[in-house]
Amino acid sequence: MKLRKVTAASAAVLALALSATACGSDDKDDAGSGSSGGGTIKVGIKYDQPGLGLKEPDGSFSGFDVDVATYVAKELGYDADKIEFVETKSADRENAIARGDVKFIAATYSINDERKEKVNFAGPYLLAHQDLLVKTDSDIAKGTDLNGKKLCSVTGSTSAQNVKKDIAPDAQLKELGGYSECIAALQSGAVDAVTTDDSILAGFAAQDKYKGQFKLTGLKLSNENYGIGVKKDDTATTDKINAALTKMVSDGSWQKAVDANFGPAGYKNEPAPKIGDIVS
Ligand code: GLU
Repeated sequence: MKLRKVTAASAAVLALALSATACGSDDKDDAGSGSSGGGTIKVGIKYDQPGLGLKEPDGSFSGFDVDVATYVAKELGYDADKIEFVETKSADRENAIARGDVKFIAATYSINDERKEKVNFAGPYLLAHQDLLVKTDSDIAKGTDLNGKKLCSVTGSTSAQNVKKDIAPDAQLKELGGYSECIAALQSGAVDAVTTDDSILAGFAAQDKYKGQFKLTGLKLSNENYGIGVKKDDTATTDKINAALTKMVSDGSWQKAVDANFGPAGYKNEPAPKIGDIVS
């Protein structure tokens, strides 16, 4: 009995060691050299944001962030079939990068000073704005209309932070794990509004199952400069990703990804930002 326990424990240690080795191989130093070797790259995205980062029922992935991530990975030397997408929810992003779970994150990840203490950012590659999504017949039309109302946002997001700080400190804020959960709460009437980036809200509003039910208020409540999150002080990878993003804009791939992913939702995005140009 005792022996069996020891064996099981050693097996667990061995399994851990093996998975640690597997993780380590993703961190290969030649990432970006252009050589498409046998290695894979782990990339953090959202799984529940239509038009940005979505895991489809067949297991494939779609969205603007997915296209940006795929382009960047290619420039780092990894073809699309070498990418392993990992779900990084809003509250998990800094930790996923710090732990080395992913090489980089493209997940509607706004650049800000607080996050910059923990991660490096390449970009920005998109400028979005915080907005509100309400039922079509709602009379909520401005930020202060939210005071006393039930509002949903996501833990670890700038959207939730902005509500508490400035937009509507007296709203009853419900913080959930992902925006799809907030949208379900809006549909059921559990909350009066959902707040986050207009890019995300437009994607939900345009889904067949929600058509005609919700509207965006069009309030530009903040500037959200999307960056690619990279390990803190990994300047080499950050620089390579900045070069990839610049190329993605100049060769027309950025616009193609915008048209393919935001077109169907009718989301009118801002022009491509220049690397390092943060709109505050
Ligand atoms: N862009 C905002 C953020 O980074 C909101 C969207 C999100 O939670 O991913 O927090």
